[in-house]
Amino acid sequence: MIELDDRTLAFQRQTRAWAQELKPLALELDRDPDAIHRHLDVAIVSYLTRMTVPPEYNPDPVVIDGHRFYGTGTLERVVLAEEAAVGDAGLLLASPGPVMSGVLVDAMGDEQQKKWFYSRIMEKPTWTFFALTEPDRGSDAGAMSTTLTPDGDHHFVLRGAKRYVGNAARADLGIVFARTRPGPLGVTAVLIETSAAGFTAEPLETIGLRGLRLTAVTLDDVRVPADQVLGRHLRATQRGMWSAVQGLNRLRPGVAAFGLGIARAAYEYVLDNRRTLNTADRHRLDRLALRLTELRQLIWRSAIAVDDNEPAAGYLASAAKARASRLAEEATLEALSCFGPGARLDHPLLDKLARDARGVEFMEGTGNIQKLNLFTGLVQGGLRRD
Ligand SMILES: Cc1cc2nc3c(=O)[nH]c(=O)nc-3n(C[C@H](O)[C@H](O)[C@H](O)COP(=O)(O)OP(=O)(O)OC[C@H]3O[C@@H](n4cnc5c(N)ncnc54)[C@H](O)[C@@H]3O)c2cc1C
Repeated sequence: MIELDDRTLAFQRQTRAWAQELKPLALELDRDPDAIHRHLDVAIVSYLTRMTVPPEYNPDPVVIDGHRFYGTGTLERVVLAEEAAVGDAGLLLASPGPVMSGVLVDAMGDEQQKKWFYSRIMEKPTWTFFALTEPDRGSDAGAMSTTLTPDGDHHFVLRGAKRYVGNAARADLGIVFARTRPGPLGVTAVLIETSAAGFTAEPLETIGLRGLRLTAVTLDDVRVPADQVLGRHLRATQRGMWSAVQGLNRLRPGVAAFGLGIARAAYEYVLDNRRTLNTADRHRLDRLALRLTELRQLIWRSAIAVDDNEPAAGYLASAAKARASRLAEEATLEALSCFGPGARLDHPLLDKLARDARGVEFMEGTGNIQKLNLFTGLVQGGLRRD
């Protein structure tokens, strides 16, 4: 049984208090994702604006009970993600901040690129994104067809299209994955500014996690300075898809924690809003509470594995993500079933939770893709059955 230390417990208490501010805003943001611009002073949004900026670039971190918090650890991020998602996962995902690009800048950027990126983040609330998925090439990201070709000695040109990219329509900075040549070693990541000529971002209509503002991106001969290509100082095997996998491994426990938070919000909604519970209902809820606790342990285990760079980290993160998205969907549907046939209309917050839960299934790879990853881990001996 994993227990949090005093420092992380203090952070958990604080994020739980911060999250109280989110629930009253959830339906407003669901109706109008641009409402986030009216709520940049909400405490947790302010924290997210700088979360993951490393100490050398953030002289003014949040201090709780005498501890400094930079959000660079995966365990503290999953603790925050669960609590914030109990408040509202949509608002958490709508917030500005470096995390979407930052994990990849950290994994592949050189010192100059990190300095440039984090100084931009520290200037003002800045949305960032990572664009991997292409139309018809989501799960099979390695088959991407966006190209990055040299244009003179000091520039490259990006050409192609990306889809379902979170926050790209409101971002200033982002990471785009593109191909310099065929094969897995031909994939490269570049840091781009959305003000560049040829970059267009069209928000997509969605029904779940609407705060995230999923976007279709078109890259029409976007010129990129050579010094914005990430990983130039790394071996070819450590760039491209390798780095995408490393980055996604770091983010995946957090996505699992969104799922856990959504499931917990549904559970708590039933406790708060069903006046009487019969024995069968109480048993259903007790079973759900147990599953929430088991899932939390798995997510914390995967976060610790990521922080400790354990070889099994990616597999554990896949297990956590697959289980979390399934529980989020099952818990929200079960909660709806406690309120009869009019539940979706009579309980709009619960209806929203069920729509959001469906969105979690696709983030950072679908359940099937996580299971394939787990299977590979078991077959190749990277993961023990126990
Ligand atoms: C809320 C949300 C946020 C997102 N954020 C981002 C983002 O910030 N950046 C980004 O680049 N992308 C993002 N995505 C895109 C996401 O990564 C893709 O939707 C996901 O990878 C699935 O790809 P797809 O939509 O093309 O579906 P497909 O790959 O076409 O999958 C469709 C179905 O086929 C199944 N399937 C596919 N391949 C296999 C296989 N080999 N074996 C078994 N089953 C398989 C899938 O499990 C799924 O059920 C986001 C998506 C959502 C919904």
